[in-house]
Amino acid sequence: MEKNLAIPKNTLEVLRKYEFAFRKQLGQNFLIDPGVLDAIAEAAEIGSGDMVLEIGPGIGTLTRRLAAEAGHVVAVEIDDHLIPILRDTLSDLTNVTVIHNDILKTDIRALADEYNGGRPIRVVANLPYYITTPIVMGLFESGVPLSSVTVMVQKEVAERMQAGPGTKDYGALSLTVQYYSEAEIVAHVPPSCFIPRPKVGSAVIRLRRREVPAVRTEDPDGLFCLIRAAFGQRRKTLANALANAASLSFSKEQIQQAITEAGFSPTVRGEALTLEQFARLQEILTAGRENA
Ligand code: SAM
Repeated sequence: MEKNLAIPKNTLEVLRKYEFAFRKQLGQNFLIDPGVLDAIAEAAEIGSGDMVLEIGPGIGTLTRRLAAEAGHVVAVEIDDHLIPILRDTLSDLTNVTVIHNDILKTDIRALADEYNGGRPIRVVANLPYYITTPIVMGLFESGVPLSSVTVMVQKEVAERMQAGPGTKDYGALSLTVQYYSEAEIVAHVPPSCFIPRPKVGSAVIRLRRREVPAVRTEDPDGLFCLIRAAFGQRRKTLANALANAASLSFSKEQIQQAITEAGFSPTVRGEALTLEQFARLQEILTAGRENA
């Protein structure tokens, strides 16, 4: 099948032929806008030698566009009803492998080894929105060889990933994503570009993996724990939020001292701190505990 699936008429024809019923619980909103496909493919900076991992190919609309740029596309789809459809819509392509599996249970490192000799891969997807955060964080935290992640997500989530200090969207997700990558929203996409239409706006965000994380820390998990605690109670001062966090074991006095030593006002809020400043605070708190 060589039809442009992104044209709504062609998507509807495939859906009718297979009597496909959308499963809302799998976050199925298929793309029906060729311009958006181009925007995703261009933002992903795919070279002809690259392996692309696509999460959730649906009926193969984006897959075909990616296959035109990449050396190889490995597409992981959970829905068994889509597998025979993909076999049909991708039948003329020799550089696509479809894997029937849950992406959260897939050994992505093994795929990079098998299809890309262990070299860094590019992840591209119109993500199922219900698992955006576990997918994105899992990709970075598991340490799979990765050069970039270019994904369609809910607009609000994209804004949180890209946000800087002092803005309403800034929080633990912004800091964690930016620790590992440079985040840039590359397109805003309205509900009319999908079938069925999602209730909210969407955006394409590109996360270019940093060669080394944005800040140095001996203990990244401890840093993320501190950051989550700081934003756990957003309305409180940083000192109170950290002192009340069950996940941390510093006394209020230790925290207040560290905040002063780091050069902040005692009433500072977590949302004012940059990643570097959180790393510095962690260093002071840890040194204080070791010297106690
Ligand atoms: N790529 C297609 C497109 O853009 O038209 C479909 C995108 S749709 C938003 C999300 C896709 O992810 C669906 O095909 C859905 O079945 C699939 N999916 C949902 N959960 C998944 C999971 N845990 N593992 C793999 N695929 C999943």
